[in-house]
Amino acid sequence: MDNLSPLLQAMKVFFEIGQTLSYDFRRKQLLTLKKALQHFEEEIYTALYTDLKKSKEECWVTENGFVMVELNNALRNLEKWMQPETVSTNLLNFPSFSKIINEPLGVVLIIAPWNYPLQLLFTPLIGAIAAGNCVVLKPSEFAPATSAVMKKIIQQCFSDEYILFVEGDGATVVPAMLQQFTFHHIFYTGSTAVGKIIYQLAAEKLVPVTLELGGKSPCIVESDANINIAAKRIAITKFSNCGQMCVAPDYVLVHESKKEELITALIKHIRNFFGEDASQCENYGKMINANHFDRVINYLKEGTIVYGGDFINQQLYIQPTIITNVSLNNNIMKDEIFGPILPIISFSTFEEAKHIIAQNSNPLAFYIFTSSNKKEKAYLQIPSGGVCVNNASWHLTNHALPFGGRGFSGTGQYHGKFSFDTFSHKKAVLKTPTWFDPGVKYPPFKGKLKLFKMLIK
Ligand code: NAD
Repeated sequence: MDNLSPLLQAMKVFFEIGQTLSYDFRRKQLLTLKKALQHFEEEIYTALYTDLKKSKEECWVTENGFVMVELNNALRNLEKWMQPETVSTNLLNFPSFSKIINEPLGVVLIIAPWNYPLQLLFTPLIGAIAAGNCVVLKPSEFAPATSAVMKKIIQQCFSDEYILFVEGDGATVVPAMLQQFTFHHIFYTGSTAVGKIIYQLAAEKLVPVTLELGGKSPCIVESDANINIAAKRIAITKFSNCGQMCVAPDYVLVHESKKEELITALIKHIRNFFGEDASQCENYGKMINANHFDRVINYLKEGTIVYGGDFINQQLYIQPTIITNVSLNNNIMKDEIFGPILPIISFSTFEEAKHIIAQNSNPLAFYIFTSSNKKEKAYLQIPSGGVCVNNASWHLTNHALPFGGRGFSGTGQYHGKFSFDTFSHKKAVLKTPTWFDPGVKYPPFKGKLKLFKMLIK
């Protein structure tokens, strides 16, 4: 890998001379990115088809259209977000004035995975630009066609000292960069295993991190759920992008009284969405590479296949598959599946369901299908990054909601204003006038305890 140190130092200087501070500068960069996304639209579609066999429609919902929504939202609100926030001042500090200033962090590093390669690199980038930072972008090496288009976009739009695009093997490039340079923040999206490595590397220099990780997101289908709607919504989310979605329902816990009905409905909807032969369907994706293909194929042996189970090595195709009779001790119930295999497990009581979910605590997402407010309330007490009630994954498309995990599924959040906040330091400012300076604040303090207790409580 090239020595990036001079470039990274140049970025630091560019940041320190205050180039990125003004509203006009930030707005101009967001507009430039927007124009480039429009200009390169067809190339983006071709690249995402090459890497992941995504249709244009799927791309718009989950990749370039998703980013466009974030861009438009940032452009509409940037001025408001940048304003200092006036807050109240307590009696102790009378007659001071208090405000919170949003200060850019500096030079930040954004690392993205391959499953939504454009969305997951450019969505945090919007927050970082809006907040006035310089940015190093590290895409995944496993979606090379999309990486090449993104590189073209970034290099055409921005100077290297402002936004630097760094490709390469993550295990080599990232530690080398972190050794050469002290970033002001690292925003990482990817697996929990690599997240731990990033966290450790960052800790050496006390670099703050946002970690957007993975895990097993459970899906509950209660006895009183609308089974047809539940099956439809679970199927579209689970098998979209060939199951390679961080918030895909990893497995379904269905009330034992509804198991057969749910499986029948899931099969009906899978056939409606992807046809009898999903390998011929233009709306059905492929596995990213042979390693992930082999990893997922191995799970097929760990239960009874009730639908699907076919695969074609050369096409990296795995059929949408429903599997039952899986053991909680098997790998399929320990690892994040990240592929188109959906285990269905039945439960009879809330406590039993809760116990199964607790085996992989703090999931990134949790989906609750029920028509009972009481049950919904009970399930909402289970800790998770985010929740959909009678839906799956769509919470992340509402930029008014924070998106992120907790514990093993991540730390921090973004989307919309939350991205701006993630890439800003909230600086506390207290301004005290000089015309009033009560002597009680100064020594001698003897005899003032009673007064202090009145003022400080
Ligand atoms: P990954 O962790 O293998 O790679 C992600 C990024 O880290 C890549 O850019 C890669 O180059 C880099 N990297 C890999 N090894 C590294 C190392 N040793 N040191 C430093 N950097 C390294 O993840 P992936 O396989 O690309 O993505 C799949 C995972 O990401 C799944 O677990 C999924 O749930 C998760 N994910 C989470 C979200 C979210 O928003 N929370 C979104 C998408 C994917």
